[in-house]
Parts: sequence; C-alpha cells; structure tokens
Amino acid sequence: MYSEAEVSIRRSNWESFRGNRHRRLWARDAHRTLTAGLFLGMTLLLVSSASAQRTQLKPGWNKFSPQDDVNLGKRAAADAEKQLPSCNAPRVDAYLTQLGTRLAQKLPTGGVQYPFEFHCVNDKAINAFALPGGYVFVNRGAIEAADNEGQLAGVMAHELSHVALRHGTNQATKAMVAETGLGIFGAVFGDSAGGALLTTLGSFTAGGVLLRYSRTAESQADVMGTQVLYDAGYDPRALAQFFEKLDAETKGKNPPEFFSDHPNPEHRVERVDEEVEKLGGAPANARRDSAEFESIKREVLALPVVKKPVPGAAGAVSAPAPPSRNFAEYRASSYTLKYPDNWKKYPDSDGSGVSFAPESGVLDDGSGHSALAYGLIIGVSQAKGDPSDSGALHSATDQVIQDLQKSNPSMKITRQGERLRLNGQPGLSAYLTNVSPAGGQETDWVVTVLRPEGLLYFVCVAPQSSYDKYDKTFSSILDSVRFQR
Ligand SMILES: [Zn+2]
Repeated sequence: MYSEAEVSIRRSNWESFRGNRHRRLWARDAHRTLTAGLFLGMTLLLVSSASAQRTQLKPGWNKFSPQDDVNLGKRAAADAEKQLPSCNAPRVDAYLTQLGTRLAQKLPTGGVQYPFEFHCVNDKAINAFALPGGYVFVNRGAIEAADNEGQLAGVMAHELSHVALRHGTNQATKAMVAETGLGIFGAVFGDSAGGALLTTLGSFTAGGVLLRYSRTAESQADVMGTQVLYDAGYDPRALAQFFEKLDAETKGKNPPEFFSDHPNPEHRVERVDEEVEKLGGAPANARRDSAEFESIKREVLALPVVKKPVPGAAGAVSAPAPPSRNFAEYRASSYTLKYPDNWKKYPDSDGSGVSFAPESGVLDDGSGHSALAYGLIIGVSQAKGDPSDSGALHSATDQVIQDLQKSNPSMKITRQGERLRLNGQPGLSAYLTNVSPAGGQETDWVVTVLRPEGLLYFVCVAPQSSYDKYDKTFSSILDSVRFQR
C-alpha cells in the first residue's frame, strides 16, 4: 500500500510537470541539409552519388549529455524490465540482439557509443519502444505482425533512430523549459540537481515524456531508419510498408498501440519513398526475409499469452457491468440519442453538455475530482462555419482536441482526420489515448460535427484493455443520434 501511494504522488507531480507542455515553444522542422560533399568535385560524386544526397539528420537541442541519456535510459530500462512481462525466450532475445546490433552498426550516432540492449516483451499489442541510451523493447505483437525480417528490421531501425537522434531527452529538455522557464533552467540542470532530475525522469512509470514523440521526430526516425535499413542491406521501403500495413488493417478502428507512442506523421510513406529515391532506389538484391526470422516468429507465436495486469484491479476499482442492450432515449434541445438503460446521465452544471456512464464508470481521480473512466461525454464548443465546410470542421475539431489535451496533459492523438457521417451530417473521427482513472491507458474516440450551435463533440471513453467490449455500444449510440432540423 505504501509504495502504491508513493507512486501516485509521483505521478501527480509528473502530470503537473507535464501540464505545461502544451506551450510548445519549439516546433522544430526536420533538419535537412545537402552535404558539402556536393561541391568537393566530381570524383567524390562519382564514388558515391547516392549517399551524397541523403538527408542529413542531427539531434535537436538537448540539455542532457549523451552520457545522461545512457544513465537515464539504464534506470528506466531496469524499471521497464520489472514492470513488463518478458518473453522468457533466450533464442528470441538473441535473435533480436543479433539483428539489432547489425542495424546499430549502421546507425549514425555522431561517434557516441551506446550500450545497445534488445528485449522481447510478452505483450500481444503491436508496439516497440527505445529508451534513451539504446535500450530497445520489442513486443511479441510486433514480431507477429511483421510479414518478414525486413519489416521487423524497419521497426527496430526506427526505434534506434530515436536513440541516435536523442528524441527522448530532447523532449525532456523542452518539457523542463516549459515548466521552469529559461531563467532557472541552469539552476535545475546544475550538476548536483541533475541527479535528482535523472531519478525523476529515469523512472519508467513517470517517463512518459521520454517516449512522447512529436510528429516531426517520427518523420525524422522514419528517414534515418530508412537509411539504416538501406545501409544494412535491407529493402529500405520495408519500414514504411509495415506502418502502412498496420494503418490499413485497422482503418476506422481503434489503432494499434504503436501509433500512440509513435504518432503517424503526415505523408509517412511519401517521405520514406522520397528518401529511398535519394539513396538511389531500392537495391535489386536487397534482403527481405530470412529463414531465421520465420523460425523465430513461429517460436513467438507459440509463447504462452501473459494477461496484462489491469492496474487498480486489485484495489477498490471493479469494472462496471456490461452495457445493457436495452436503450433509453435522451432528448437535448438540438438532438436526440439512445443510450444503454443501465447507464446514468450526468448533465453538465451549465446545461451545455451531458455525460453517460455505467454505475462505477465515474471514479475519483485521487484528488477529489470525479473522472469518467467508462462512458460518453457530449459537449458543444463555440465554432462558426458552414456545417459542410470541411476546413471549418477540421479547425474546430483541432481546437477541441487541443482543449482536451490542455486539461489532460497525457492525452495523445493516435489517429485523426477520418471522415464519417452522423445522421447524414459530415463529421470527423479521431482516436486518442490517455491515462485512465481506472489505471493503465484508456482509448478516447472523438467524433465531431458542426451544428448551428457550434461544434458538437462526442468523446467515447473506456480503458484500453476493455475498449473492444464498448466499441459496439459507442457505435450504436452514435448511430442513434438524430438532429432536429
Ligand atoms: Zn517513433
């Protein structure tokens, strides 16, 4: 009990620490420069005309040293190993290490030697992450989802690029400055205080900021990952192909976990293709698969499935009863809808919105505020524009999502901008993740429609681990919406 209390205090400090991150002071663009080599003469060009044109990427602004990356990553990795179920398969770890090391040898680290480590996590969710300093964790789900070795190598090359580009501590640097302001920055980073800071950041639970990449960072990791694949002899398109495949397979559905840690940048595939072009195209004899990969994949598929512990399950929180199949009607001034009749309705005090949640779907967030863990929130935000004007709908939706993120600093967009219709009206759909008040992560499905009274938004909320059980209910509720003309 004692340690649990301690964790939650740390978390709440962390949340408030991260709360200011929406200030977003630095939206750095991908660092693109042509090498000076172009001007050194024809001979150089002839030797390697392709590599002379590849995109040059360098780590962004960072107040941590590469050695800090290693110290920090090492602590966070030790923590992650305690919390995440291992595949317990030495052959799989050895394979990941061999493949990862081969890729890491082609990684431009600017001369820094990182102590690369590769771990297989017994988690079916399609995901992988790398902590600063080179500690790479690959979920079994990612190995299972890869069609060939090239695709797995693509995921790993992408992760390794986050390490080389030092995106984790670059994010942490920006977060620290947003919190403390430049004035006392030096004091916070002063040598002895650095230790305490590393402790805070090094904790894997608190370390969300180390894995919270911007879309620019994602695009950079794609580009460098593509170069690494190419240099290691793989088909450099494998990386984009894997992400494209994941995206296509889950279109319109709850996206794979990978995209919550690695938000899909715009034009992902086009950007990678562009880089492949600069590298001189995919080599004809590029490596795609190996017998070893196929054998490792079979071994992974046969591993016992570890059920994810549902945080909080051991405590007072018990999951609500499943949504009833009988529906009750709700009438707002401008629309009606139907909701499961075993859910309660909670009108906003100012009358502008309403929430629906099952019994025990609304929890105390630990600080005396109630937080909805399961259910639906409906609100209206001020927005003007022709309901069929997609530009107005997009910008009003972006605004609502930004507002949601302001009050929920851990909220991340995993998918957005997909069109749908709600009672015939054009709408937009987005998926986000957030820390669930029930423990673990939650999925938030946001649907927006422009109405004469403003932007009407629906936020469907459930913990990630049980989202599939609510998905149908949310769709039924949204299908039942009828606007008054
Ligand atoms: Zn990424």
